[in-house]
Amino acid sequence: MRRILCLLLVLCLSLPLTLAASGESVFTPGTYEGAAAGYGGDVTVSVTVDEKNILAVEVTAAGETPGISDPAIDKLPALIVEKQTIALDTVAGCTFTSSAILEAAKAALLSSGASVEAITLAPAEDAPASLETEERTADVIVIGAGGAGLTAAVEVLRAGGSVLVVDKMSSYGGNTIAAGSALNAAYTDIQKAGSMAASGLDYVKAQLALPPHDEYMARWQESVQKDLDAYLAEGRTNVFDSPDLHKLQTYVGGDYVANPKLVEILGNGAKDSLSFLEDLGMKWSPEITTAVGATWARSHQPQRVFGPKGSDFVIPQYEFVVKNGGEVILEHKVEHILMDNGRAVGVSGTTSAGQPFTYTANKSVILATGGFGANVEMRMRYNRHWANLDETVPTTNLPSATGDGIVMAEEIAANLIGMEWIQLVTGGGGFSASIANNLYLNAEGNRFVAEDSRRDVLSGAVLEQPGSFFWFLSDAHTAEDIQHGVSYDGRKIEDIVASGGVIKADTLEELAEKIGADPENVKAAVDAFNKAVKGEAADPLGRRVFEFPFDKAPYYAGRGLAMVHHTMGGVEINELCQVLSTAGEVIPGLYAAGEVTGGIHGGNRLGGNAIADIIIFGQIAGQQAMK
Ligand SMILES: Cc1cc2nc3c(=O)[nH]c(=O)nc-3n(C[C@H](O)[C@H](O)[C@H](O)COP(=O)(O)OP(=O)(O)OC[C@H]3O[C@@H](n4cnc5c(N)ncnc54)[C@H](O)[C@@H]3O)c2cc1C
Repeated sequence: MRRILCLLLVLCLSLPLTLAASGESVFTPGTYEGAAAGYGGDVTVSVTVDEKNILAVEVTAAGETPGISDPAIDKLPALIVEKQTIALDTVAGCTFTSSAILEAAKAALLSSGASVEAITLAPAEDAPASLETEERTADVIVIGAGGAGLTAAVEVLRAGGSVLVVDKMSSYGGNTIAAGSALNAAYTDIQKAGSMAASGLDYVKAQLALPPHDEYMARWQESVQKDLDAYLAEGRTNVFDSPDLHKLQTYVGGDYVANPKLVEILGNGAKDSLSFLEDLGMKWSPEITTAVGATWARSHQPQRVFGPKGSDFVIPQYEFVVKNGGEVILEHKVEHILMDNGRAVGVSGTTSAGQPFTYTANKSVILATGGFGANVEMRMRYNRHWANLDETVPTTNLPSATGDGIVMAEEIAANLIGMEWIQLVTGGGGFSASIANNLYLNAEGNRFVAEDSRRDVLSGAVLEQPGSFFWFLSDAHTAEDIQHGVSYDGRKIEDIVASGGVIKADTLEELAEKIGADPENVKAAVDAFNKAVKGEAADPLGRRVFEFPFDKAPYYAGRGLAMVHHTMGGVEINELCQVLSTAGEVIPGLYAAGEVTGGIHGGNRLGGNAIADIIIFGQIAGQQAMK
């Protein structure tokens, strides 16, 4: 809960010519409360008024996501008092919370006797922004305060440099703070403690039987074969894995489009990315899971020390940066990378108030602006593999993911690779980001795809189903034993059920009825799945990742869709995160990390690989930028 009190003396304010000037009483003096649904439950607002003025606005309760919702909670109450209206724009990046605050304030003001017209007058215009260019200098300028940018900033500070992290939004965190919460890493202690069904090894054997695409793949296959021989000889039953299997699955799962040198770095560095975050104060949950499209049980989840969703992947770095002399500057949109004699020397752009700024880098500029999943025009321009990616296709991305860094990089002749590879994910259905114990059913109640498939296969299969949607089924093994009543993004499962986001039933028949599917189909689908889990028969759809049978009530179903999720293409980098030009040469002074880059995930990203990517390559970019 956050409490923000904005008690402003109205006489000191230059009030717009609205309520106070009307001469008539607008409100019945007093303090009133209103509530409206936010993202994480109700947002409650208390409003104090005299006859003609809104004197104070306070957010008294809000279960919103810290970081994401903070700017709305910090700004809007004061703005309502300053402008004497609720006809205000939402704060960029916090649409849900902003709308909830404005709606709750409206409800409170209406109960004070005000008319809708009186409280929705157009706000007076702000004084024009200063046209004087704001100038700053630091050793390294990082563009983008998401996971990759803040990780890079940590490394710049550790190397003794000064750093300015510039973000266009009102809050830091980018898509990272909204992330589902899986980080893939092989052969960690957490993973070693997990068990797997023997049928899972068929997956490994299938990868070993593939003709090697190049010398990297041949080497990874050889090393995995040795590990597998030892695993079988020792009669082990825990999760089989190694960094080389992680690389192999990443490379094969991305259809060999990735740069194997970057895949090598990803596989080798993933385990250390866990300790990078732990050293900054976050903690890992003891259960290993299989994120949707991860294809293997190596997804690590945070314990949510810093907050829900992806907070633990980005707030630890943010706190380190601000405590150690770095600065995170919000509402500054970078528009250009400044070049001098072929070298990147700084950035220029415009603040949200319209003021121009120019920041100079003594050493380097790091591009960490994320992907372009929320930019419909760009995704339609580059899409080659999906029938349609226009605005009717929803996205999981925050509005910040508009590909600005790619446009800026192109302007200075940086090379772009893999731009046509745009990932859709099957999401929005339910409370689990793992497929380990969960089933996909279509509207008729039939399974239609092996749930441990790649994301492009899952999404393609969903788009072919009646109504292009699916039901994501979970049971109490997932809801209680694994997730302990909490959804992957930190909400209480019972709250999601209460709000209608997920359907709950005590029997499979009841569940089938509630989702409008044929109970016979649902029962047959679950029976076949359970036989495969117990090793009594092969899974009819070829699924190989199993954990528990689907047999523990209560049962749950959430309605899911295929949504634009990740853009695999972007700026070409080498192993040191240096940005390469269209001529194949290093652009001096310019580094890039995170989803703005291409070449790491190839044609299809394994679920859970992006968080490892942003930490590993964010660290490299930060270290190299100081050299
Ligand atoms: C809902 C969701 C769930 C996900 N779950 C997972 C998961 O569980 N596991 C996993 O591995 N991956 C997951 N992903 C993918 C992963 O989260 C992203 O690929 C990753 O966080 C991208 O990090 P980044 O630092 O590159 O970009 P971001 O975190 O998006 O940060 C980019 C920042 O740059 C800023 N910016 C952009 N343009 C400008 C500009 N012109 N000027 C200044 N600033 C600018 C943005 O405002 C933003 O803050 C998920 C993605 C989404 C959307």
